Amino acid sequence: MKALVWHGKEDIRCDTVSDPEIEHPRDAVIKVTSCAICGSDLHLFHNYIPAMMPGDIMGHETMGEVVEVGSGVNGKLKKGDRIVVPFTIICGECEQCKRGNFSVCETTNRNKHLAEKVFGHTTAGLFGYTHLTGGYPGGQAEYLRVPYADATHIKVPDGMTDEQALFLSDIFPTGWQGAAQCDIEPDDTVAVWGCGPVGQMAIRSAILLGAKQVVAIDRIPERLAMAEAGGAITINFDKESVVERLNELTDNKGPEKCIDCVGFESHISMAQPDSVLDRAKQMFMLENDRPHALREIIYVCRPGGIVSIPGVYSGFSDMVPMGALMNKGLTIRTGQTHVNRWTEDLKQRIAEGQIDPSFVITHTVPLAQGPEMYRAFRDKQDSCVKVVLKP
Ligand code: NAD
Ligand code: ZN
Ligand code: ZN
Repeated sequence: MKALVWHGKEDIRCDTVSDPEIEHPRDAVIKVTSCAICGSDLHLFHNYIPAMMPGDIMGHETMGEVVEVGSGVNGKLKKGDRIVVPFTIICGECEQCKRGNFSVCETTNRNKHLAEKVFGHTTAGLFGYTHLTGGYPGGQAEYLRVPYADATHIKVPDGMTDEQALFLSDIFPTGWQGAAQCDIEPDDTVAVWGCGPVGQMAIRSAILLGAKQVVAIDRIPERLAMAEAGGAITINFDKESVVERLNELTDNKGPEKCIDCVGFESHISMAQPDSVLDRAKQMFMLENDRPHALREIIYVCRPGGIVSIPGVYSGFSDMVPMGALMNKGLTIRTGQTHVNRWTEDLKQRIAEGQIDPSFVITHTVPLAQGPEMYRAFRDKQDSCVKVVLKP
C-alpha cells in the first residue's frame, strides 16, 4: 500500500510499504477513506519529538471502513462498519481507562519500558507518533491496523459525512478538552493563543460552553478571520500588544481562563539543534523577539485563573515563570486528549448541528500530495488551515 513515511527532519515521503495485517485477536484493519495532517505531525516533521525512526508511518487523524477483524473483537465491530480512529489507543479496561483518563491508558503502549524511563510512568499508545508512545504505524496510509480495536474506535452515525466526523479523532475533542478543563463560568473571558485547527476548535468550544467573551490570538490574517467568524474577538500579535489588549478587554484584570493552542512552535525547544550556536540562540533569543505563548499566558492570566495547555511540549521547558505561576495561584491543566471521554457528547453536538467541524478544512488532496502539504500547512501557504488527504 501507499503511506506517508518519516525519513528524518523535514523528510516525509509517499512510499510503498507492506499492507497491515491482523497481528493480535483484538486488532481490526480499516481501509482509510480520509485522514488529516495535525499540528503535532509538524513537531515530528521538524524532529522536535525524540524517538522517531526512519520508516515510521505518519498520521493519527484517520477514519475508514473496517475490512478485517480479529477473533477477539467480540462483535464490537464488523466488516463494513465506518469508524473514526481516536489517536489514543485504549484498552477500555485498565484503571485509567475506567476513570476516563484514556490518554494515560496503562495497557496499550508497547514500549512501556521507554515511557517509564523518560516520564516516570507509562502513557497510552498513540498512532503515528514517537516510539516513546509505542511507535504504532499511523493512518496517513491506504490501510491502518487498529490495535485494541474493540475499544479504540468511534462509530460514525448514519448520514454523517467523513468531513463532519473525521476530527472526532483528535482536534475537536482536543479543542473541547482545552476549553472544558477551564471550568468556564458565564462571566469568564477565555483567551486562546494559536488559531490553528486546535485553536479554532477551542474557540468554538469555549463559546458553546458559555464564555462571556472569547479572544483569539495569532498573526495569520486568514486564521484570525476564521476565529472571528466563529464568534471571537481577535488580536494580531504582529500588530498590537497582546497583554495590553487583553487587559483592556478585561477591565485591567486579565482573562480568567487561558488556553495554549500553540505548544512548541514559538517555544525554546529541545529540538536537536544543528550546532552549538543554534542551541545558544535557542537558549538566549526568543523567536521574533516575542515571549513564547506560555510565558505570555502566565503573565497575563488573572490571579486564581486556569491555564489550559493542549499545545504539545516535549523535553524541558526553559524560562517558564514559576514565580508568577505560584504567586498568582494559577492552575495548570494539560495532557494528550482523552479522546473517548468526549465522544458521545461531541457526536451528538455534530448531529444536532450545534457545530460542523469541517469548517476548518481548506485543502482536500490525494494522499500522494501529502509530503508537499506538510510544507504548505507548516508555512500557511495558500491560506492553509487544515489538510485532508484522500488515499
Ligand atoms: P498549528 O501549527 O497549525 O497552529 C499553531 C498556531 O499558533 C499557528 O496558527 C501560529 O501562527 C500560532 N502561533 C505561533 N506562535 C504564537 C504565539 N506566540 N501566540 C499566538 N499564536 C501563535 O497547529 P494545530 O494543529 O492547531 O495544533 C496546535 C498545538 O496543539 C500543537 O502544539 C499540537 O501539537 C497540539 N495538539 C495537541 C493535542 C493534545 O492531545 N494535547 C492534540 C492535537 C494537537
Ligand atoms: Zn493531533
Ligand atoms: Zn486502558
